[in-house]
Amino acid sequence: MHSFTEARDFFGKVSPELLAERYGTPLYVYNEAILRERIREMKGILKEDSFTVNYSIKTNSNLSILKIALEEGLNADAMSPGEIHALLKAGFPADRIFYVCNNVSDEEMLFAIDKGIMTSLDSIAQIRRFGRLNPGGRCAVRINPGIGDGHHKKVVTAGKNTKFAVAENDIDDAIRAAGEYDLKIVGVNQHIGSLFMDPGHFLEALRNFLSLAERFSGLEFVDFGGGFGIPYRKLSGEERLDLNDFSEKLTEIVCEWRMRNGVHILIKSEPGRYIAAECGVILGRVHAIKNNFEEKYIGTDIGMNVLVRPSMYNVWHDIEIYRDGRPVDDSHGSEAVTVVGNICETGDVLAANRMLPMIKEGDLVCVLDAGAYGYSMASCYNNRLRPAEVMIGLDGVDRLIRRREELDDLLTLFP
Ligand SMILES: *Cc1c(COP(=O)(O)O)cnc(C)c1O
Repeated sequence: MHSFTEARDFFGKVSPELLAERYGTPLYVYNEAILRERIREMKGILKEDSFTVNYSIKTNSNLSILKIALEEGLNADAMSPGEIHALLKAGFPADRIFYVCNNVSDEEMLFAIDKGIMTSLDSIAQIRRFGRLNPGGRCAVRINPGIGDGHHKKVVTAGKNTKFAVAENDIDDAIRAAGEYDLKIVGVNQHIGSLFMDPGHFLEALRNFLSLAERFSGLEFVDFGGGFGIPYRKLSGEERLDLNDFSEKLTEIVCEWRMRNGVHILIKSEPGRYIAAECGVILGRVHAIKNNFEEKYIGTDIGMNVLVRPSMYNVWHDIEIYRDGRPVDDSHGSEAVTVVGNICETGDVLAANRMLPMIKEGDLVCVLDAGAYGYSMASCYNNRLRPAEVMIGLDGVDRLIRRREELDDLLTLFP
């Protein structure tokens, strides 16, 4: 088993041990070079000029990461006033933010309208609400291409079993509802779900989506969403998404559509995971090892409050073990263990029945691919403090980009 972090020189001029001593564990660590590399790959998927990549910031909304995305020329998708607030703070101008919301109040809509932020509406009811608040205004509509995809049913966001978007047979009513308020629908967007490794469904949904888009007149943009997968089992050789092949097919479909419908129409995409997942890892410390009946448990400080994905979706994250600043390989044997956190829940499992090198108390556990839906889904459950975040810069030097919470942070909201 090779080490991904070592092969990528992930920790630059510092070692995991040094980072753990300096900032404590658990700790989110990001690598700037990998982040920028992934951003540039996404910018290259469509061989066309009028194409923008909107980074979906629910994936990871650390201000330093947002600033890098801005510097790299990305636009951004926000799902809430909180995300809009963070983007403005990071320096994104309002016209580079797209608000893709669902089921929101007048107050939330006005928050975006007042700032001149383009808003995508996800139902006829929301179109009417927007129309009452902003008659004659401009908006986008999210449509359901009838096909979804994703790594878990909870993240499939199109097709028949989802709350999202306007279905095909409601499109005419949606257009009529917009007309009642003189709303101008200038864009349509879709997002079929998260994490595809085989683009077949995506391309099929894209064709449906583009043909549904033809029912709208006066479009200025179409936005085909995100969902690009990353190899979560890279240590056992899982292949990356073949972006070259994907890009060729995508470009062909999109160019052909634009030739027929207007070459001026801007194409947008909304990747999240692909951009942020692989540049982030979590370092945690092994504090206890024990056998309960047949099972060997490795007890760490990476609770489900730090990384909820394994307990929420039952998904795999690769794990590396570090000891004395060096990755531990399986040359001294390996065994099946269950890696758990420090939260009072039986479901607090990071990896069940996983073959790992022989682990000792005091070792560091390094959880890979934790940059997306990691910190952004972290919580203070059990009144645990959310971890610090550190960036290893292009110069290989570590910088604190979010401090660890302190005990008093847990009390700030009480009157
Ligand atoms: C979450 C989300 C994305 C990003 O999805 P990824 O799978 O992380 O690429 C894009 N668009 C919308 C509307 C989303 O909700």
